[in-house]
Amino acid sequence: MRFLPLFFDLSRGSVVLVGSGAPAIAKLRLLRAAGANVRWFSNGAEAADDLLHARHYAGQIEIVAGEPTTPDLAGALAVVSSAGKEIDERIAALARKQNVPVNIVDRPDLSTFIFPAVVDRGDVVVAISTGGASPVLARRLREKIEAILPARIGEFAAWMRGYRERLGELRERGVSIRRFWEKAIDGPIGAAFLAGREDQAEKALLAEFQTASGSDGLGAVHLVGAGPGDADLLTLRALQTLQAADVIFYDDLVGADILDRARRDAKQVFVGKRKGEPGIGQDAINRLLLEAAQAGQNVVRLKGGDPFIFGRGGEELEFLQQHGITVTVVPGITAALGCAAEAGLPLTFRKEATRLTFVTANVAEGAESVDWSSLADPQSTLVVYMGLSSAAIVQKGLIGAGRERTTPVAVLARGTRPDSKAVTGRLEDLPALAANVGGGPALLVVGDAVAHSSIWKTENALENAA
Ligand code: SAH
Repeated sequence: MRFLPLFFDLSRGSVVLVGSGAPAIAKLRLLRAAGANVRWFSNGAEAADDLLHARHYAGQIEIVAGEPTTPDLAGALAVVSSAGKEIDERIAALARKQNVPVNIVDRPDLSTFIFPAVVDRGDVVVAISTGGASPVLARRLREKIEAILPARIGEFAAWMRGYRERLGELRERGVSIRRFWEKAIDGPIGAAFLAGREDQAEKALLAEFQTASGSDGLGAVHLVGAGPGDADLLTLRALQTLQAADVIFYDDLVGADILDRARRDAKQVFVGKRKGEPGIGQDAINRLLLEAAQAGQNVVRLKGGDPFIFGRGGEELEFLQQHGITVTVVPGITAALGCAAEAGLPLTFRKEATRLTFVTANVAEGAESVDWSSLADPQSTLVVYMGLSSAAIVQKGLIGAGRERTTPVAVLARGTRPDSKAVTGRLEDLPALAANVGGGPALLVVGDAVAHSSIWKTENALENAA
């Protein structure tokens, strides 16, 4: 992030605008919409009448001939210029010398601030920037955001502002203002207002003011699946839950870009295991979850993939329920599904792969003790979690149980992450393949279904060509 988005009150001074072409006039329009007083150094061109005279704009426009000089700039809140290369460069240098924020249209290199693409819904404003890299992309994003924002969102914000003075009463009664508004926004009150039923929303809100109380009692714990890595694979519910969290306990499989999607002021606590270091242990994690919930917090326990697949979600659920805590579970896309999708690998295939097994081969938990005889069925696809360092044990077990040595296999490492790597081969090569992916987390996939995958086909096409 090179440019920090800020919202600027332009009514308290004036902005110097230089240039008379269409880009300058577009900026004039925007500055007018923000109520700015503009000193417009324009040679020749005249802005549309509506820009100069419209009553609904708050600020003044003063048209000045020529080029702004040092004193003109010194008194300005900001300078915006689109007057041709030479003038622009001169103005950028002058402004920078005096530490006046300057924007040269389409020249982020000369600018100390840039204009975002703006979604303007009155009090609700969304600013989008690509750091000047691609204004077209910024505009496309704006269109998407325009489309998902309820039409009355600006009025909704203004309406809530009207109740600010009454929030003191709630605070005195120990009510959390944030939770009060969250409930209002997400619940029937928000729905009524946004649907245009303002009276109904008002009545419900007033009732809420009467009844809201500070005794929130126990909080709740949400066991949330974060998916295999790519933050776009979070479910909508996972996102909503992350946005409402007071505290998030997360594992090492959960990456920073997923945590970035959580509520900004949620506390983030790492409870995973880093390579080579012991973790704090399951009992300690259980205790932390319990204490946070008992303190009335909205707790998220965030796990890679799905919480109920090799994630010890079951143990946490039982422990918390035994202590009377409400627990909800938000499923996530488990590694097998995320990785298979990325590799174009259908985990089942009609008539060829009719059974699917997820198994863990964690050395620490005794990979040796897996009953391989039940996994030798040639029509089954086997996905091995935590098996990277026990690939030889998996291979030996399966071949010993009668699985063909030439059965197609894949090792899918760091699936859906930017550094993901997938390799394919035969069961007899499995340990070598596992040693070749550059580390985990990784899955081993065994079965004829692998031969239908995109990665298998590309690798074999390359080999045949060679
Ligand atoms: N609950 C998780 C699994 C946790 S066990 C889920 O549902 O996916 C940890 C194991 O998951 C790792 O050892 C690895 O086998 C697998 N895994 C997790 N994320 C992965 C990824 N992005 N790519 C490949 N394997 C992954």
